[in-house]
Amino acid sequence: MSKLKSSENSSGASNRMEEIISLCKRRGFVYPGSEIYGGLGGVYDYGHYGAILKNNIRDSWQKSMIQDREDIYLLDSAIFMHPTAWVASGHVGNFDDPLVECKKCHNRMRADHILESFGISADKMPIDFINKELDKLREEKKLKCSNCGESDIAEAKKFSLMIKSNFGSPTEALCEENVVYLRPETCGGIYLQYKNTIDSLHPKLPFGIAQVGKAFRNEIAARQFIFRTREFEQMEMQYFINKKDTKEKYDMWKEVRMKWYLDNGISADKLTWYKHEKLAHYASEAYDVKYDFNCLGGFDEVEGIHARGDWDLSQHSKFSGVDLSYYDEESKERFTPHIVETSVGLNRLFLMFMDFAYTEDNLGGEKRVFLKLPKKLAPIKIAVFPLLRNKPLLVEKAKEVYDLLRKDYMCEFDDNGNIGKRYRRQDEIGTPYCVTVDFETIEKPARPDEDSGRSGGDNTVTVRDRDTGNQERIKIEELSEYFKKQF
Ligand code: ATP
Repeated sequence: MSKLKSSENSSGASNRMEEIISLCKRRGFVYPGSEIYGGLGGVYDYGHYGAILKNNIRDSWQKSMIQDREDIYLLDSAIFMHPTAWVASGHVGNFDDPLVECKKCHNRMRADHILESFGISADKMPIDFINKELDKLREEKKLKCSNCGESDIAEAKKFSLMIKSNFGSPTEALCEENVVYLRPETCGGIYLQYKNTIDSLHPKLPFGIAQVGKAFRNEIAARQFIFRTREFEQMEMQYFINKKDTKEKYDMWKEVRMKWYLDNGISADKLTWYKHEKLAHYASEAYDVKYDFNCLGGFDEVEGIHARGDWDLSQHSKFSGVDLSYYDEESKERFTPHIVETSVGLNRLFLMFMDFAYTEDNLGGEKRVFLKLPKKLAPIKIAVFPLLRNKPLLVEKAKEVYDLLRKDYMCEFDDNGNIGKRYRRQDEIGTPYCVTVDFETIEKPARPDEDSGRSGGDNTVTVRDRDTGNQERIKIEELSEYFKKQF
């Protein structure tokens, strides 16, 4: 997929990417996989805040698909599927990318991405076409290794993205008969459970099945942090329709999905539609949602919306021998439903929200970094502090406030370091509100003319807003009402 990238912003983009990667590691969002063993290419682990943020993004998608609608059912299918299913879907024969290798440093690159960086559209083009175009670049001395700059690049060959595993007795050697694949996309499980869904839940067309789960692809160049990894999570929905409704339902899904991004705080100018000109033979329409990544220096794909015809169910019916047609009681017709699919990468959305939220500003004369995450996605909603950790009365009261608020919100108690440091830490993990219990909470400050008899505090706390740094005093008994309005 081509990026609208300019050379001016590419160093700014790589700086931004470095800043995001560094914050993710420093603050417990994302760690390199197997780091103590030197890492494993294209694999990342999610730490405490990252795992919560990822769950919150997933929940927002799932709510929009399941809770807010009446026509979509949830599925959680297994990662392993019958190997024939991937033959039927065309993945075993055709799920590959064009690979080129630098003969000097053995850097592996995607040939279609190289061509696209020269403005040559290579999406789904045959390997012969790709090699002819690469030859032209070679003649013009434009073909160079992205790692060492060498121009001796081998010709392109097809590279399967399917990751194999074995099944059955652990003592059996891996042989073709017991090869199973780690699913390269989650929608395969949906097609295989379409019949059970119909037989058990009796939905009427149009209806959808949605699922969230892991997918695995042996990506040639798993780069750009969590944008493209070998293990990732997808959130996919297959909407089963009568063929005659394809245009109406396709347009509806484009609208619904774009609204989801806007509802989650992404501004419209950071989003665009990319229309695929070259379609798979069975598809009638394919658009991608592209987001303008600061850390990648331009627009790139986050989600695909595809009108897939009746290809998937017809193929699985043919290969399994099971009738997957649908009887429409209204029209008294029997037909194989067509499908409109929405398919988005959860980890790619994670990077999109990090990219969108990463903000540097000046607060009170000091430079700070903060994550301006939408409040409903922020991993921690409210942090509660005692002003000083060595004053038991403050700590006790702050714990009381923390216990009160964490019944309804994901909260964190923090008494480490000074208040300034705690604010900076919470800003960097995107916590929208910090609540501080201080001496005003527990006792009124003694007036200079007052020699004794400190009275009880006014039971108010300071509530600080992440984005503005503004602070206000709120009574403890009014905090629940106050936060109800904020979230
Ligand atoms: P690309 O062109 O980027 O390789 P694709 O068009 O093959 O992606 P799809 O098969 O349509 O992607 O997958 C749907 C979505 O799944 C993508 O829009 C993306 O968000 C996500 N996705 C696909 N591959 C990866 C990956 N290797 N790592 C992370 N997310 C991915």
